[in-house]
Amino acid sequence: MKKLTVIVPCYNEQETLPIYYKEMCKIMLQMQDVDTELLFVDDGSTDGTLSVMKDLHTLDERCQYLSFSRNFGKEAAIYAGLKNADGDYVAIMDVDLQDPPELLPKMYQILEKEGYDNVATKRSTRTGEPKIRSFLSESFYKFINRISKTEIVNGARDYRLMKRKMVDAVLEMSEYNRFSKGIFEWVGFRTKWLEYENVERSAGETKWSLRKLFTYSLEGIMGFSVAPLSLASIIGLLFCVLSFLMIFVIIVRTAVWGDPVDGWPSLVCITFMVGGVQLLCTGIVGQYLAKTYLETKHRPIYILKDSSEESCNGEKG
Ligand code: UDP
Ligand code: MG
Repeated sequence: MKKLTVIVPCYNEQETLPIYYKEMCKIMLQMQDVDTELLFVDDGSTDGTLSVMKDLHTLDERCQYLSFSRNFGKEAAIYAGLKNADGDYVAIMDVDLQDPPELLPKMYQILEKEGYDNVATKRSTRTGEPKIRSFLSESFYKFINRISKTEIVNGARDYRLMKRKMVDAVLEMSEYNRFSKGIFEWVGFRTKWLEYENVERSAGETKWSLRKLFTYSLEGIMGFSVAPLSLASIIGLLFCVLSFLMIFVIIVRTAVWGDPVDGWPSLVCITFMVGGVQLLCTGIVGQYLAKTYLETKHRPIYILKDSSEESCNGEKG
């Protein structure tokens, strides 16, 4: 029988875990033709998440878990899950039931019968989300798709089901600065997109503050586009041309009308502006350099402190 591993990243989810497990039991009953395993990844939770996972593991051997030494972020949790999943099919799903488990049997059927390698999901609406957050997200997707060759699908969730060959391809991309939405697109393969309405969290609170989302979007932009670097050169070139024009104008004006001592305020403004643009451009270069620096250190993406299987793939990812 084929095996399906469902990766579930969890960070402080002690309330949602039991609800999730109950729902998944119903789904696993429906999916008799495949051997389903739940692989919970505890992303350094500070509440009782790990002990709930341990209880579930004792109760039901289909529940496995990995536990990080600290909070490494959802991207790291997904990577750890993919690395330790041994199913022929691998799914990634949030624990808060915002990724409807009812879709899983349908996704499995699509992979089995329609010859796709991967079924991905996206939200058709953003209801229930604060207006400002929706606006910022929409703008981010518009911007990144303009400057990046890899298409980042608006509203795409991390909820997806993949065949083994795609999982192996994703694992080949072992970069430290991870942006899954880009990575899954970058590796290619035949993808079918399913849409569903946004649902509220089953319990607990979202871990994504606006600040975290902003850093995440920068991760996406810098991970999948070098356009900001060329932006610096373009602005530089524009300012050079402008300054030559201005020098020409000043020489002509002085020759024709003499040299009255005025215009210093405008001079100060220009100095400030050019200084600002220079700093901005240096900053952009610095951001890329910082990412390269972290990448060259080859630090592990996550560190395990505990897991249900002692023979899981080594200590580090
Ligand atoms: N999550 C994680 N590490 C983190 C933050 C979140 O593993 O540092 C998990 C979280 O437990 C949940 C999923 O990622 O299963 C999605 O998080 P959340 O529901 O807070 O995000 P949202 O659905 O609001 O985008
Ligand atoms: Mg959620």
